[in-house]
Amino acid sequence: MTPLPRWLLLAHVLITRKLAMRRFGPSFAIALLVCLGLGAGAAQGQQTGAERQARVIEFAANNSLFVLYHEMAHLLVDQLGLPVLGREEDAADNMASWILLNKGTPEAGTALTDAARGWLLSGLVYGAELDDSDFYGNHSLDRQRAFQIVCLMVGSDVEAYTSVANAYAIDPGRQDTCPDDYRLVNRSLGKLLAGRDRKKSKTRVEVSFQAVSGALRGPAEAFEASGVFEQVADELRRNYSLRKPVQLNAKRCGEANAFYDPDTVEIIFCYEMMQDFMALYTSQKPGKAVPLP
Ligand SMILES: [Zn+2]
Repeated sequence: MTPLPRWLLLAHVLITRKLAMRRFGPSFAIALLVCLGLGAGAAQGQQTGAERQARVIEFAANNSLFVLYHEMAHLLVDQLGLPVLGREEDAADNMASWILLNKGTPEAGTALTDAARGWLLSGLVYGAELDDSDFYGNHSLDRQRAFQIVCLMVGSDVEAYTSVANAYAIDPGRQDTCPDDYRLVNRSLGKLLAGRDRKKSKTRVEVSFQAVSGALRGPAEAFEASGVFEQVADELRRNYSLRKPVQLNAKRCGEANAFYDPDTVEIIFCYEMMQDFMALYTSQKPGKAVPLP
């Protein structure tokens, strides 16, 4: 592996679970999931091979989309000089959820449900390995990130997302307060970002996909075909007027992660992350811990 470049030190490293991946490796994660008997599976057993593969890719693409909106939030905070009260990583998650909820589409709801599921799964795998670095780190714990997504979902639309909140076992008392959480996020981001889409010059965004071979080729092609990178690019072009051009680059990084680099105004998505999300879904087994909504 090449030495860590400088941008890596500057970037907002996204995900605690990815640090855990480096400690134990994906095979450990999968073995533990199988051992614990967690996740989906009953429904999967009724799927054809092609349907299951399509669902694997959809799950991985949806988790990637959430990650990319999280990185876009870092970009907006940096480029627009947005104030952040509280931890930026939590704010970036909230903005990612808020962007998807504003779309108001079934696809966006599924993306958020999958993203929450992804955090729950990784939290179950690595929860037993928590140490002080997880608690003084800049990210909330994986399970907290999952439940915050679901809380904002049910807070934004009780009718649409109560079934998701119930499936993920958020008790009725907490669900009742989630609309307050959502209103605060919606009011705050609405005021911060109001009028950003009214300027004439739209953000210039370039998207690139590095060609790769070997085991990463499949995940890389699935990522490109999913269209999630273009979705994020379109969001930036349509709704924001950033002075500097933005680059969205997908490539092999040598680790499963995603970054915003403030020096180059660049969002980097590592194909290894798509690969990990696909492996995470594939490893799921029937059980109560992460029920399907
Ligand atoms: Zn981040």
